[in-house]
Amino acid sequence: MTRAHELIAALGSIPHETNPKLVAQRSRDFYWYSPVLKRQLEGVTGDIIVSPRSEAEVAEVLSACFRLDIPVTPRGGGTGNYGQAMPLSGGAILDLRSLNRVTSIGPGHVTAEAGAIIHDIDHAARSQSGQELRMHPSTARNATIGGFIAGGSGGVGSIRWGTLRDLGNVISARVVTMEAHPRVLTLTGYDLHKVVHAYGTNGIITSLDMPLTAAYEWVDLLMTHNDWLRLNQFSDLLACQDGILLKQLCTIEAPTPHRYFIRHQKYLDPRGHVIVAMVAPHALSSLEALCRQERVTIAFRSDILPENEKRALPPAYELTWNHTTLRAIRMDPSVTYLQTLYPNPGHVGKIAEMSALFGEEVPGHAEYMRFEGRISCDGMPLVRFTTEERLEEIIRIHEEHGCPIFNPHRYTLEEGGMKQTDEVQLAFKRLVDPKGLLNPGKMIAWDDPDYDFNKAGYYLFPGIKKEGTFADEIPSLD
Ligand code: FAD
Repeated sequence: MTRAHELIAALGSIPHETNPKLVAQRSRDFYWYSPVLKRQLEGVTGDIIVSPRSEAEVAEVLSACFRLDIPVTPRGGGTGNYGQAMPLSGGAILDLRSLNRVTSIGPGHVTAEAGAIIHDIDHAARSQSGQELRMHPSTARNATIGGFIAGGSGGVGSIRWGTLRDLGNVISARVVTMEAHPRVLTLTGYDLHKVVHAYGTNGIITSLDMPLTAAYEWVDLLMTHNDWLRLNQFSDLLACQDGILLKQLCTIEAPTPHRYFIRHQKYLDPRGHVIVAMVAPHALSSLEALCRQERVTIAFRSDILPENEKRALPPAYELTWNHTTLRAIRMDPSVTYLQTLYPNPGHVGKIAEMSALFGEEVPGHAEYMRFEGRISCDGMPLVRFTTEERLEEIIRIHEEHGCPIFNPHRYTLEEGGMKQTDEVQLAFKRLVDPKGLLNPGKMIAWDDPDYDFNKAGYYLFPGIKKEGTFADEIPSLD
């Protein structure tokens, strides 16, 4: 009996799928944002999709795969754009979307299974308790809460609440280990760093307890000014107004907004740089006063639109974070992007400095957020891609100017992060995934403890599409 037969026998009634077309579809995420990842990962595919419906079924799948040495790559909505959910060594894709129950809502918190769609959690919290999640990615309508915690970093709400790694922004996580007899661990406090943004290499998250805050009918605003530096100075001033309750604040350099925000185009001027903000209704009059004083124009506000006009528009948060990039790529496939930090102090100056340096080649986009208690900016500038060499040069110039790059053209945790081993995550992996079967190839420190992060070029996981993998056995099922 082959391993494929053995796995399928072990799965019993747990839903699974081996149709190669469907498996190939579910082996992809938004890796194609990057021309580099597109070239490297185009052929990557898993061998079987397994869709457990409960934590107990997750444990059954992991136990069988552990016994049979089959790699397992967890997956939620598949909206990650670093190739995080792509099964480099093939094997099983663990589709968690059937674990989608919201199990408890109380004052200040919600407990939900990891495969629940974030928008659905928010909807349940809002309708049952008048509360909402503190933050969500701009992909809230498709992304799962487990995928956000394992693959994301922050997003809409980060202007007030910071990032997912900040203490208190995740209350607890239940995690199933990859062992012969999988254990269920409950992580809290600093222990959450073992699984937050670990790309599913450190156990499968089955349930999360997340903090809630008061829900508002947020008003979407687009504010404009023709001077990029001035607009960012205003944005920083607004971010620092403790009394004005915001859920989202970013600046996007012209010509991006007018050129790519097609459904909002009629409200915008081609030369106008734009702030996209979400403000609580009771804070609107104060924000208007600030705009008047600083001579910034409010070009669009959702609260005064007729209902039919409002329904025809995407929510403002779908113009922000990586949705800005998505809208640009859809209209111009030669566009890609970078992810950088404009650190405080000096963040506003850095945004303007980088724009002045690169001009139209790298149009600016800065997400204002609370970072360790202070306002900083996550930069997500677009890049008009020409060659991989030029992309590397643009990255180097950013770093030389004090803007660290979280490289979205790399599929490993380290290269997409701080370019160093995360000792906490590595130590935890030894305990919970001793065979290294969870999402192989994503943690360099596991594969090559002596890897030199300062050397030029990118890490190439030697396990990509190795011969003799489980994939070769699937045809024998027929
Ligand atoms: P997936 O893409 O399915 O998985 C992400 C990672 O988590 C993978 O490594 C996967 O293996 C792992 N994983 C999934 N589920 C589990 C689980 N239950 N247990 C363990 N590991 C698991 N990110 C942000 O942080 N903020 C944003 O605002 C944001 N905006 C985006 C906008 C666009 C248009 C796109 C394409 C991406 C954006 N992202 C953003 C990235 C991505 O959407 C987020 O990371 C998202 O939350 C991922 O959720 P998902 O369910 O799609 O996860």
